[in-house]
Amino acid sequence: MMLAGGTLAVGLALLPATPARAVEAPASAVPTPPPLPPERPEALKPPVAEPASPPPPSRPAELKPVVPEPIREPVKDVIRDKPSETAKDSPKETAKPEIPSPPPSPPERPPELSGSAALALKVTPPDDTACRTRLKRLGVDFEPLPPIAEGQCTAPLPLKVTRLADGVTLPQGATLTCRTAEALARWATEVQVEAERTLKHPLTGLELGGSYVCRGQNHDVDAKLSEHAFANAADIMAFTFGGRASIAVKALPEGSDDAQFLRTVRMKACGFFRTVLGPGSNAAHANHLHFDERERSGGHRLCE
Ligand SMILES: [Zn+2]
Repeated sequence: MMLAGGTLAVGLALLPATPARAVEAPASAVPTPPPLPPERPEALKPPVAEPASPPPPSRPAELKPVVPEPIREPVKDVIRDKPSETAKDSPKETAKPEIPSPPPSPPERPPELSGSAALALKVTPPDDTACRTRLKRLGVDFEPLPPIAEGQCTAPLPLKVTRLADGVTLPQGATLTCRTAEALARWATEVQVEAERTLKHPLTGLELGGSYVCRGQNHDVDAKLSEHAFANAADIMAFTFGGRASIAVKALPEGSDDAQFLRTVRMKACGFFRTVLGPGSNAAHANHLHFDERERSGGHRLCE
């Protein structure tokens, strides 16, 4: 008895030292004397978690008649209900949760390669019949290639193009979509006109650095896929002519016929391709003209 009383006295004497225990100890200690001390620590932990549980019981009552399904929505409804009580606080509290939602807008992939449209492509490939007819009418030599599917690099209806209009050859050949091949062919006719006008010699060929290539932009593995990965782009390294030296694409001093020719045909390309890059655009395009048909929101073009 003496020992028990002594321990209790010590326990009570120690409790006041910590304010948290001092407040709750008396309330729980009164109903049951000795056996409680060991149970107090356990009783103290639950109370911390309890504050969160009490609200739920009231939520289901309000939600069952409306939306009994999701568990997450009850939290939103509780937040909405609280602000409604105080008109001033409601706009602030509701505005915060709504702000983080907008982010999902990144998808910049061409519409033909995203979401349901991409699935539709697999089921029914685009009909290039009309485009191929136009290519033949332009005098383009081409033949269909089997569908390309290398991971994310795809081209359902690629063409092997070896010659453009007016006998302009592509010695390396080009693997392109019909749409890109048509743009290249139409641009080549403009290049032919410029060659005759400025250089007084006919254009006979285009040296290509690449058409379809499964890679990222600027050969960067971490960058998003280049339009080359969709047979939607062509790199022009040089122009060859009949009766004169070829012209390699590079930065040329203004004033020469070669510089005038390069500047003009590059400008004209902007009328046929959505993307035109070359010397001066960036280091990656210092030695060639890059053309592609990347689709951008709002129909924006990149002509540099
Ligand atoms: Zn390129």
